[in-house]
Amino acid sequence: MNNDALTALYGDNNKRILMDKYEEGAELAQLFQSQFDAYYASPTSSFHDNKIARKFYEQRLRHINFTPYPNDGLVTFGASGTNKCDREIFFKNAKVKVEKTPDIPFRGRQRRVGSAVIEYLQLDIAHMEKRLGNDALFTFAIASDGDYAMEDAMQVRQVIEHNGVKFAITVKPDGILNYANDPERRFIFEYKTKASGVVEMNGKLDYNGAQADHLRQVTAEAIVYGINEGFVVYESMHKPSWFSDEERKSIPKTRKTWYNGKPLPDFRAMYFYITDEMKNELLDDLSRQAELVYNGEIPGMNVEMTSKCGFCPFKSHCKKVLMDVELTRLIEVEKTMSKSNMAGKQEHTNLRNYLAEGV
Ligand code: SF4
Repeated sequence: MNNDALTALYGDNNKRILMDKYEEGAELAQLFQSQFDAYYASPTSSFHDNKIARKFYEQRLRHINFTPYPNDGLVTFGASGTNKCDREIFFKNAKVKVEKTPDIPFRGRQRRVGSAVIEYLQLDIAHMEKRLGNDALFTFAIASDGDYAMEDAMQVRQVIEHNGVKFAITVKPDGILNYANDPERRFIFEYKTKASGVVEMNGKLDYNGAQADHLRQVTAEAIVYGINEGFVVYESMHKPSWFSDEERKSIPKTRKTWYNGKPLPDFRAMYFYITDEMKNELLDDLSRQAELVYNGEIPGMNVEMTSKCGFCPFKSHCKKVLMDVELTRLIEVEKTMSKSNMAGKQEHTNLRNYLAEGV
């Protein structure tokens, strides 16, 4: 992570300590990636061990059930839902009917790829020790009942009181990992597939590091588990060309997937360290959102919120309950943006998409 990104995330005060952390973190991430590369380079990664696979799937089967949250009236945030807009949180807790509209088919397929790959990756992690022996530095921690420390086996709902407001956070991580070089240390593991392409994924990670919403997710997990470090791991579903494309004239330079005789990385582990400030910032935000829900007034609309509409299931409802003055304001801002150097930029596109959605 570069200097600017560190300052933006943690402020100047903690930068020095964090730079040390991130220096070690870069080495840890390298070890993590080398371990996974060694696993996938091995011909044995193409098949699974029956005993391990059975234990893994029996665990999955045992957890296929539905356990409702306790009926305590508290606003409950899922860790991956800690970056939602105020209005979406409000609508969800007001039990507004979720909109189930058909989507573009490839998106459904993409979601299916993401869900399938994480399960397979977890099964691979369960094999690391057997396949790599002492070279398996990062392996699943084992829960008290013998389960692999992942998903439902690690699900916790924790009630929190912050700034005088009570709410709950639920967490269900992709994994909690042991580290063979330091048996006392645990790492949170979150895994994200990327469909945008291997060139784009590397460009974004090199420039910005792990995504802000993913860092909020692991911050929520750090609050609940008291584990402050780990990896957000990104894997591009688009792979480098099977053989080098460096000499292929039909591929523009910016689209090449090999560089200096090597494929671009399709799998990147981004180390993170969560500070008390990051935890407090998240808790401030969640307690504020919970209070909005308890107060029962629909939060006002603003332009920034439109950056979060992508996966929102309340789009029509949100537009339906928009006040005239809010709609007028959004239209005015959109007009101004379209005549400025903001035209066509992400913020402008988000606002236009919001205004274009039917009610
Ligand atoms: S449509 Fe956008 S602004 Fe409205 S609730 Fe959903 S995320 Fe928020």
